[in-house]
Amino acid sequence: MRREVSLRDEFLPLVGSPVGSFSGEGVFVGYGITAPECAWDDYAGVDVRGKVAVALRHEPFVKDDGATAWLGKRLTRHATFESKARVAAEHGAVGLVVVPDLASYPRGAEPARMPGRRFWLSLDPTDLDAGMVDSEELTAGNVSPADMVESIHYARQGPDLSRRLAIPSVFLGAGAYEPLLDPAAEERAIEKARGPRSRPLEGARISATVAIEASSVATANVVGRLPGSDPVLARENVVIGAHYDHMGIDAAGRIWHGADDNASGTAAILELAAALGSAPPKRSIVFVAFGAEEVMLLGSFHFVARPTVPLESIVAMVNLDMIGRGGEEDLRASPKEGARANQVFVSGIDSSPALTGLLAKANEGIDLEITPNESMADRSDQAAFYVAGIPIVFLNTGEHGDYHRVTDTADRLNYAKATRVARLALRCARSLADLPERLPFVDVLKKSEAWAGKSRKEVFLQGDSTPFLERPDL
Ligand SMILES: [Zn+2]
Repeated sequence: MRREVSLRDEFLPLVGSPVGSFSGEGVFVGYGITAPECAWDDYAGVDVRGKVAVALRHEPFVKDDGATAWLGKRLTRHATFESKARVAAEHGAVGLVVVPDLASYPRGAEPARMPGRRFWLSLDPTDLDAGMVDSEELTAGNVSPADMVESIHYARQGPDLSRRLAIPSVFLGAGAYEPLLDPAAEERAIEKARGPRSRPLEGARISATVAIEASSVATANVVGRLPGSDPVLARENVVIGAHYDHMGIDAAGRIWHGADDNASGTAAILELAAALGSAPPKRSIVFVAFGAEEVMLLGSFHFVARPTVPLESIVAMVNLDMIGRGGEEDLRASPKEGARANQVFVSGIDSSPALTGLLAKANEGIDLEITPNESMADRSDQAAFYVAGIPIVFLNTGEHGDYHRVTDTADRLNYAKATRVARLALRCARSLADLPERLPFVDVLKKSEAWAGKSRKEVFLQGDSTPFLERPDL
């Protein structure tokens, strides 16, 4: 039997794989781990010289909540593709095939969840289908802010990308591994035996070709700072942000206008800059028009990783992304995530105790219907600040039928409403900048530590790319 698998739907080269072909007999190597310090060797008793190693993703006994019974709560460096490829190469394998560990991550085989797919997409700006982070994945903790920071690292690597893994390596998902093995059954057998269960895959010959063409696109955040009027408090900063990028032009040459997403927010921060500039508040204001939000929030995570003011000096972040819609038509098109005509969603209102009152006061006379909605908390640039332990206020008027479509055009915006949301943001930012004491941060969403997989300090506060370079890719 000969089975061909299709690119993207069934397999992807692992990011960092060298370009090249391999062909050889298949050998199942468990998790592909040789770890003398924990008396574990998936390669003991099998010979992979000149053959293709087939390994499960992650590491043994990984539970749904991310805890592992193997070494401790967090995945170790042995779980990385880099480690699996290196160990396979050290044992003489010519290629590596990684399959999902379905008993631990049941959704891992779905094509959209393939590891590398998002990196793949983040390196391919012409693919307009899936530029957004999957919010379900974020909520499930499968895509962490650290992953995003890592993808910045990958994106930065450019031509060096192909030198990361030791041998050509692919990920095989979506049931395409079935002729070879049943990953969940293998995983359970290993768990039951509490030891490796490696073996040759009798009669299986695996061939693959990896061809990666890296394309890199340069972009930038646009940052301006308005010095505060109070000599002491001016050392602290309130960030007001809105992303200015959208989805570009598709293969058919159509412009994706992004009038709501996010010309609306970008125009608003220009107005806020003008208004605040004419009467500066006590603290300084940092205005950031973020680039690359649509590609994994890269711009804002880059800002937080390499802030233009000390991260500790940022007392709050106000983000505006899609503020010009809402109403009957939008609700019909997007019943779950659309807003009513007078409604504005706010995420992060519990990230500091005083925000609810502060926002209510700012809303006096504007009288928008303010609705807390944390389902949006992960989905725009405020997420990076939240993870860094900074109180956030994210204002948004919901999804609609033109969301991420070529039809998100200027004639469809409600300008009067966008103006009111901008005014609310202005008052909110001004109050935050004038508060006598800085607001405490509360991690009510329980994400700032859990997501990062490391302490925030390690991941974000060092102001240098080194920790990201060292962070394992899982
Ligand atoms: Zn947006």
